Amino acid sequence: MAFTPRVFSGMQPTGNLHLGNYLGALTRWVEMQKTHDCLYCIVDMHAITLWQDPAELKAAIRSVTAAYLAAGLDPRRSIIFNQSQVAEHAELAWVFSCVARLGWLNRMTQFKEKAGKDREQASVGLYAYPILMAADILVYKATHVPVGDDQKQHLELTRDIAQKFNNDYADAIRAAGHAEAAFFPLCEPVIMGPATRVMSLRDGTKKMSKSDPSELSRINMTDDADTIARKIQKAKTDPEPLPSEHADLAGRPEADNLVGIFAALANSSKAQVLQEFGGSQFSKFKTALAELAVARLGPVNAEMSRLLADPGEIDRVLADGAARARLLAAPVMRQVKEIVGFLRP
Ligand code: ATP
Ligand code: MG
Repeated sequence: MAFTPRVFSGMQPTGNLHLGNYLGALTRWVEMQKTHDCLYCIVDMHAITLWQDPAELKAAIRSVTAAYLAAGLDPRRSIIFNQSQVAEHAELAWVFSCVARLGWLNRMTQFKEKAGKDREQASVGLYAYPILMAADILVYKATHVPVGDDQKQHLELTRDIAQKFNNDYADAIRAAGHAEAAFFPLCEPVIMGPATRVMSLRDGTKKMSKSDPSELSRINMTDDADTIARKIQKAKTDPEPLPSEHADLAGRPEADNLVGIFAALANSSKAQVLQEFGGSQFSKFKTALAELAVARLGPVNAEMSRLLADPGEIDRVLADGAARARLLAAPVMRQVKEIVGFLRP
């Protein structure tokens, strides 16, 4: 069965957006809004799976919204909103909690990484995170989900939930008039773009994350030129000069990461970057990388500051987006209740 193509994606307001969010997701989102109907969410309900200071959370929601707009998302073309304003996300997540199996969630690597050693002390929300994510996507029957590489496993779970819901409730779904018992689409991950997995500047085997305690591990979209240059100068490397061949980056995760970032920022390829910098010492390469990063992020950063000077306008964008999102989510949730067998007046 054919579903209307629709794009959904989101970011957590857990801190400042970084280069990984920008290259891995945002630049792709801007492209997709040219060809698709898109919803871009600030997933504040996901954020509180780890402790967030309330005042800081509010500020982070506005800051992520400003980053979306500054990066080129157009609130007239796409629906931009914060998750908690649309109650259907949480409502559908409960139904999905009863569809998903414990065994499925037990395999999720993000939970293992974020919960760390003291799993007993992790919030239940952190464990159930992928279920809410499935609801975020499916409450709009979204078909395409542009994300970074780290979200692949969660999207597979989303497909499993959609499939199991369609199977478990097949008769009720048909009775409600849906041919082939396909109520929810099996959404496709869109994991493409210049850099689907940007790594930490301190450890080339860990992904760059908002929630990494080390500020030196990431370049934030709000960092000024000096900060960007300092973080790149301090980025971990190895003692060898850069190789000339792409294949020789194997086993050198930090070098590979910096070359990948350069290529993504320059809209070129790692091979092209190595043609220019092969044989160079890191000091020379890092200076060029810092200049490039400042040139790319500087204008976005300036636009973010301009937008953040008027928080009222940001709140209006979110309220308008939420109202439009609710118009899409409400009928889907009404049908879900009918299918599941909840009695309504
Ligand atoms: P947190 O540490 O709080 O989980 P995060 O940095 O992982 O923050 P998210 O809000 O969880 O950011 O993810 C937003 C989007 O950015 C997702 O599509 C995710 O796949 C993508 N993303 C996150 N980190 C990276 C990265 N290092 N490289 C590429 N894409 C990334
Ligand atoms: Mg994350």
